[in-house]
Amino acid sequence: MKIVVEIEKIQGVERYCIKHQKIYRIPIENFPGHITFIHLIIDGEISLVDLGLDSKKARDDLRKGLEIINRQFNQRVNLKDIKNIIITHGHPDHFGMLKWEKLAGRKIYIHRWDNVLFGRLNGRVDRVFLGIKKFLKESGVEEKLQEEILNEYHSTKHHFEFNRFDYEVIELEDGMEIINGYRIYHTPGHSPGEICLKVDGFLFLGDHILSDITPHQSSTTYMTGVGLTYYFDSLEKIIRLTKENNLYGLPAHEKAVYPVYKRAEAIKEFHYERLAAILKICNEPKNISQTTREYYRFQPEIFNDPAHPVLDKYLAFQEIAAHVEYLLKKGRVEIVGHGESEENEIIKYRAKRV
Ligand SMILES: [Zn+2]
Repeated sequence: MKIVVEIEKIQGVERYCIKHQKIYRIPIENFPGHITFIHLIIDGEISLVDLGLDSKKARDDLRKGLEIINRQFNQRVNLKDIKNIIITHGHPDHFGMLKWEKLAGRKIYIHRWDNVLFGRLNGRVDRVFLGIKKFLKESGVEEKLQEEILNEYHSTKHHFEFNRFDYEVIELEDGMEIINGYRIYHTPGHSPGEICLKVDGFLFLGDHILSDITPHQSSTTYMTGVGLTYYFDSLEKIIRLTKENNLYGLPAHEKAVYPVYKRAEAIKEFHYERLAAILKICNEPKNISQTTREYYRFQPEIFNDPAHPVLDKYLAFQEIAAHVEYLLKKGRVEIVGHGESEENEIIKYRAKRV
């Protein structure tokens, strides 16, 4: 049976109702063209699911959203009424606004693998940096581009640096129930501590499942809890859950997702096709850089247009590496030529003949 959801949209803010459960969806512009939706749950207690990247614009967008909810939807709610903030995963476009003093003192819920507070992540950011360096070298990325990517990564480091910790942090685990019986589903893959959150008939999807794009994957070379093996398991988990329960999916970006299991199956299918295409490319031994460029040959702007963001190139390498790593784990590709000489740090992969 199809789930009954009443949807109303006023000045960009959406309200979703299933029976008496109301969710407001407030768009926050992180930078031009990049939106995170902050979800507001009104349920005796007032909670937010996710925040945007911290900026004046993002803060103004949240203020403006609350104003529209008060004036247009006639729902009395102020910033100071918010008690809980649930972060679906530790990426800056989901937690950045925790730096805003107006949100201090709240209860923050985040999976322990992605706990960005208490300065724990500071050490991780440095480790990740070293890992990225190694990854780019092994992938055969040319030195100039390696440097550009590392500089770019350094310039984002401040997002992870917190010097104020006056939040009460609750670390989440799979199966936990929080607030008014909201249930946590740990879904690692896109991020180690990614969670989905069930609130009555709603399932908050974070970046685990999105309506249009397939959430980004990265290789496990510098971080555990990511990669396709985890991601496929997490998709299965949500497919099972949403086949058994009629849940309406609200991701942190893009449009609402329903039925959730159908979208999850389509994402799975997409990755299988990508795996097959990569396997074909690796008929001859290729490193990650070569494989990536060949895979994205129909989007030449990524590598050929100097104005194209450097970070996209890096994300493309990671995305392909996540797939190659999965093929390696499944015994479909093998490493060739690595370590034949000391200078030879670049790893090449070849499809196994079956
Ligand atoms: Zn995101």
